[in-house]
Amino acid sequence: MASEQVLKAADYATEVHNDWCPGCGDFGILRTIQMALAEMQLDPSNVAIVSGIGCSAKTIHYVKAYGIHTLHGRVLPFATGIKLANPNLEVICLGGDGDGLGIGAGHFVNSGRRDVNMLYMIFDNGVYGLTKGQASPTLRLGVKTKSLPAPNLNEAVNPLWLALASGATWVARGYSYDIKGLVSLIRQGIEHKGYAFLDVLQPCPTYNNLNTKDWYGGEDLKDDKGRAMPRVYNLASTGYNPVVQAPEDLDGKITQAVSRAMEWGDRIPLGVFYKNELVPTFEERLTTRIPNYMKRPPALQPIADSEGRPLADLTRLLDALAVN
Ligand code: SF4
Ligand code: MG
Repeated sequence: MASEQVLKAADYATEVHNDWCPGCGDFGILRTIQMALAEMQLDPSNVAIVSGIGCSAKTIHYVKAYGIHTLHGRVLPFATGIKLANPNLEVICLGGDGDGLGIGAGHFVNSGRRDVNMLYMIFDNGVYGLTKGQASPTLRLGVKTKSLPAPNLNEAVNPLWLALASGATWVARGYSYDIKGLVSLIRQGIEHKGYAFLDVLQPCPTYNNLNTKDWYGGEDLKDDKGRAMPRVYNLASTGYNPVVQAPEDLDGKITQAVSRAMEWGDRIPLGVFYKNELVPTFEERLTTRIPNYMKRPPALQPIADSEGRPLADLTRLLDALAVN
């Protein structure tokens, strides 16, 4: 792609047939990813989008960039390997709530601890959409969607709490129909120095008949003039400041984030809950051990000479393993 070419959102679209259900919130998220990439003018050949398994995971086929469709719950270890092999790539991880907080929960926690410089987005609809709408880890106790034979017997995980408790240094929530807000959050998540977690509320009209577009839009909550009162609101509009500016801010910023992440029901906050760039990233920690890591990361090191002979010298390794 010519370097002077200005890329538009449509330039990040592919021709691959899309098989999401009509009205799925995933369409809005796909559009916002393409818009954010265009806003940042990111070179598609420098972007790797990694997904797990689920409806959301198909997104990588619809965005013109490197796409890696991995295993159920394994998006984060794949993405960590890609980013650490070539830290110059922009790495975006995508997956569903079932994928990331069910089978992938261990990776979710350990990615927070590492603080690798990448963005992880969960498309959060409360169900396992791809497999006919079973209750996912974010569906609340006692809730019965149309896809369940009986109310959910499990308590829900709060993804924002779990991300905060695991050490994620940027924690935010978006909504698939808040296009402008979501583009801004995706951009901020990519630009954040460290591991950024973005929970995106996403109606699944096929299996979740409770958390619908109308429900988020507050069509059932009318003011005295009969107007809908949207449940979702922007944290920033209330003067909320998520940024840790000094180590002594930490307790207060975590506490306020936990408190606001608890809000649910008639009022659902969107935006950045927590941001802390004082924590060294995993790449910075690695550099203290391997000083030229960022200059010569594994993916940029030559592995063969001009004749195709491997350059790796295993002599020391073989010597160490030799049995005398
Ligand atoms: Fe979207 Fe739900 Fe259909 Fe999956 S099952 S494509 S999440 S509407
Ligand atoms: Mg889901």
